[in-house]
Amino acid sequence: MKKVGLLGGTFDPPHIGHLVMAEEARLEKSLDEIWWMPNPFPPHKEINSATSEENRLDLVKKMVDCHPSFRLCTFEMERPCPSYTTDTVKALMEEMPTIQFSFIMGGDSLENFHKWYKYEELSELLPFIVVARPGYRPTHPTSFRELTIINNIKLDVSSTEIRHKIKIGALNRFLLTDAVYDYIREYRLYE
Ligand code: ATP
Repeated sequence: MKKVGLLGGTFDPPHIGHLVMAEEARLEKSLDEIWWMPNPFPPHKEINSATSEENRLDLVKKMVDCHPSFRLCTFEMERPCPSYTTDTVKALMEEMPTIQFSFIMGGDSLENFHKWYKYEELSELLPFIVVARPGYRPTHPTSFRELTIINNIKLDVSSTEIRHKIKIGALNRFLLTDAVYDYIREYRLYE
């Protein structure tokens, strides 16, 4: 059975924190592929950005091109809004029963997991792989069918900080891949 790690996110923009977590999860669990799954509208999270869905899709496409095991998954984007992760993952697993899915997320998402819609159902649906993030404790308010916590690398990088740094003209460009950086410059995103 093909082993796929699902990495959901807003990716506004995708950055090296996402890249490193995807690769850590792939190595730790010997995953065949990582599917980057942008969400159209995150119900559990406020989004203060005017980036279009098209721009975010393009950005994730640029990002997944840098690794042969990374893929863009538009499954959640194509679902009616609001799309809750629990329902999306359930539908995806039903549609592709021959794939062994796991869900990858950061330590901040684990800490706030109890705010997700139907989180108890989601935690039992598939294995979770959590990559630690600075400032967040690996605590969780619910039990998981299977939970792997990866502590090897903690990168203090966020999309929020990157958007802010671009706005004030102080971005460290190495927080992004070249392709993502060039796209952001071309479309003058976050300025
Ligand atoms: P924002 O700053 O806009 O909230 P973000 O940087 O947290 O964005 P998302 O696209 O919301 O990025 O994150 C998608 C997933 O990646 C989430 O599970 C999040 O916890 C995780 N993640 C993002 N950055 C990191 C990081 N530096 N270390 C570990 N996990 C991360």
